[in-house]
Amino acid sequence: MALTGLEIFKLLPKKNCGECGIPTCLAFAMKLAAGQAEIDACPYVTDEVKAELSEAAAPPVRTVTIGQGEKAVKIGGEVVMYRHEKTFFNPTLIALYLSDDMPAEEVDRKIEEVKLASFQRVGQTLEANLLALEAKSGSLESYNSLISKASKINLPLILMAPVEILEKVIPDQKGRKPLIYAADLENYEKMVSLAKENNLPLVAKGKSLDEVSELTEKIKASGFKDLVIEVEAQGLAANFKNLVLIRRAAIEKKIRSLGYPALTFAFDPQGNEWKELINAAVQIVKYGGIVILSSLAPWKALPLFVLRQNIYTDPQRPLQVEEKFYRIGQADKNSPVLITTNFSLTYFIVSSEIEASKVPTWLGVVNTEGLSVLTAWSAGKFNQDTIAQFLKKQAMTDLVSHKKVVIPGYVAQLKGALEDELPGYEVIVGPREASEIPSFLKNWS
Ligand code: SF4
Repeated sequence: MALTGLEIFKLLPKKNCGECGIPTCLAFAMKLAAGQAEIDACPYVTDEVKAELSEAAAPPVRTVTIGQGEKAVKIGGEVVMYRHEKTFFNPTLIALYLSDDMPAEEVDRKIEEVKLASFQRVGQTLEANLLALEAKSGSLESYNSLISKASKINLPLILMAPVEILEKVIPDQKGRKPLIYAADLENYEKMVSLAKENNLPLVAKGKSLDEVSELTEKIKASGFKDLVIEVEAQGLAANFKNLVLIRRAAIEKKIRSLGYPALTFAFDPQGNEWKELINAAVQIVKYGGIVILSSLAPWKALPLFVLRQNIYTDPQRPLQVEEKFYRIGQADKNSPVLITTNFSLTYFIVSSEIEASKVPTWLGVVNTEGLSVLTAWSAGKFNQDTIAQFLKKQAMTDLVSHKKVVIPGYVAQLKGALEDELPGYEVIVGPREASEIPSFLKNWS
């Protein structure tokens, strides 16, 4: 049973020294309870307390890492049922399924699709995370050939094969830290010893929640915990129900035997790709840890990536860009200066309209804690004081030889007050809508 923040606090040294990076022991205890800090950060905790807390303070859904290096990915580590309560931490991993009995051209085409399914949105790269490779032919040679084809793209792997094939391929692959698939009630002893020996995460699967629960308890008793769980189910309703029950059991009921990230297949039994897209969307929204798809054509990948990005954006921290002047095109001393806020979406919309105008421009982005123009203005974070401070701090006069500043049309009322703050400056009211920026800039002189 997980401890509350106050229960953890009672076990801490209460020095309030801040060496853990958090000013007080109470705040540190709250972070531990929320799974946002590690007990090792406090140098004064005794080994006995550490052992007690490591287990108790672990997030209710275990964090599991797959892969090595820059493409390594994490799942789990979640602490709430609903994202408005706090946030979801580790986005659902999207995997492409390939098997060694597929025709070579189909494998090549699907791998190419994964390469194409990479998109930029509000400053983030959206792409697939894993390749799930199944040994279906029974031939070690075919499976090795599939692994070698998949290695052309640098993504972590899920190796789906019987124990005897995994034993042969893992020595060459363990450096990439693949997820191995799958232990069940019949083979778990062999699979767990393979996972333990090679320090690899493992999928534990069963036909029902009870079976998965029984299996994870057995595996945990053998001292292994890096698990991803799967309840074998087909269809949207069954997967939806299982994912919700697993999350509820872990977060609300504190049932440790289901406190692991969940893996699901989004496949439609009739091969309908639209239904597969819907299945995957539901699994992403409802707590999927890893969602495996049969193909990742861009039409399918893009909406799923965007959905995932939206679900896993911290609702309490809007996406922000850095406060500074952005040089768009070959902006020089004579170029116009436009001012906006640091809400990512605002920045990307405004900057793309400026780029479309082909007029080299300086875009000044004021730190409004991620709020858009009107929201920031009404919250007092985008006004004559904050804009004037920004222009002075960022030394606008070093960038341009004029003193003209364009503010968004939605805050036209700031013109007079800003000119009072900045004697000698001309404040120009720009368009209200970003789409009007190109025509506004084309008339700039
Ligand atoms: S380092 Fe330990 S004693 Fe110091 S504030 Fe953090 S939790 Fe408290």
